[in-house]
Amino acid sequence: MLRLYNTMTQSVDEFRPIDDNKVGLYTCGLTVYNYAHIGNLRMYVFEDILKRVLRFCGYQIRHVMNITDVGHLTSDADTGEDKMEKGAAREGKTAWEIAEFYQQAFVADLDRLNIIPPDVWCKATDHIPEQIALVRKLEEKGFTYVIDGDGVYFDTSRLSDYGKLVRLDAEGLKAGARVDVVAGKRNVTDFALWKFSPQGSKRQMEWPSPWGVGFPGWHTECSAMAVKYLGERLDIHCGGVDHKSVHHTNEIAQTESAYGHKWVNWWMHGEWLVLPKEGGEAAKMSKSSGEFLTLDYLIKRGYDPRAFRYYCLNAHYRQQLAFSWEALDAAGIGYNRLKRTVLDLRGQHRKADGPITKHMDRFRAAVEDDLNMPRALAAMWAATKDEQAPPGRRYATLVDMDRVLGLGVEKMEEEQLAISPEEIAKLIDERAAARKAKDFARADQIRSQLGAKGIVLEDSRGGTTWRRA
Ligand SMILES: [Zn+2]
Repeated sequence: MLRLYNTMTQSVDEFRPIDDNKVGLYTCGLTVYNYAHIGNLRMYVFEDILKRVLRFCGYQIRHVMNITDVGHLTSDADTGEDKMEKGAAREGKTAWEIAEFYQQAFVADLDRLNIIPPDVWCKATDHIPEQIALVRKLEEKGFTYVIDGDGVYFDTSRLSDYGKLVRLDAEGLKAGARVDVVAGKRNVTDFALWKFSPQGSKRQMEWPSPWGVGFPGWHTECSAMAVKYLGERLDIHCGGVDHKSVHHTNEIAQTESAYGHKWVNWWMHGEWLVLPKEGGEAAKMSKSSGEFLTLDYLIKRGYDPRAFRYYCLNAHYRQQLAFSWEALDAAGIGYNRLKRTVLDLRGQHRKADGPITKHMDRFRAAVEDDLNMPRALAAMWAATKDEQAPPGRRYATLVDMDRVLGLGVEKMEEEQLAISPEEIAKLIDERAAARKAKDFARADQIRSQLGAKGIVLEDSRGGTTWRRA
């Protein structure tokens, strides 16, 4: 029995889809004005695990993911610059070029992390008529008002249950209201459905509408596209925890007002990857702070993308994961140990060898318990070490578990691990030279490059020695 945490009910509940064994899944995608950072990618790994677990439990999934390529402003309070136009100005390209480039980079990142692509990719700019139709529907029902020179807004005071996802109450909202409130808003929580282009200037991305030339508000796209591809009632909607109080809250308000009934049964949110700060509070990895790591950078430092995936699985998706190079190195070593075990067991596998029930039961119990991946990994390691069981059956068990883990068990190859003692010695010399020249970045890079191949370095007064992890 699959049990999943639902942000709306704030409890772990037995999962039941609306329609027999079919599951509609909508996940908020990336705003493509820059690369995804590894905190974003952690969330997409969580969503991939969710999808794989649903499949493992026998459900058929229809998964839709959007690409935000217009309308996401630098402030969640409908003020600030459009992130796309800001990205375009930064790089001296058009907003359209920026969107195309970073969308491709995003798709490539997901592929390198062995994330199963969605059945439908949908871009906000390809769905302008659907978004206008949604705003019109809300206007007809009396949920909107226009602020001259600014945009069409949703009147949140029309709803008695606004903010139910995060249990916001009116008083708490007033106290927590942002300072940069749009003039003319009737309530602090009201939000833009359609924004007008600034008077006297032409935006790169703008469209005519019944209310004036402009562009859709950020939240409008997800409601319009989710309903278009998955219908008026949805099984699961996912995103990051930072989406809860504004983006998803507003998606709920506008969709339920437009259709007059409950929209989503399960809301699921992935926690942040945080950067611990010495003597201070851990900070969320974010692009606005300018400090963020990409998957490309990890690969350049010698890490296998699958080792990053393995690293993500070591924490439950509802817990913050503290990032450090040491933790990533440890995950890299663990991943390589798995790889060597797989190669060893695979050589002794025969076609008739099936998975071992006892270990699969333990694994299933873990993943069905709100995607408890740390426990699932423990079950996986227990299976590898079960000396009572024939090696071929242990291999078959790993292959079966990998339907959920997605670590690429069947494709693990010898050469990914191989590194000769000569090459290791050469890199150790290079690292010593880098340290002498105080180029610690290069020295660290060499350490992690070797770590990714399962080689651990040990420094002592006599010099550096190495061993296989
Ligand atoms: Zn969204």
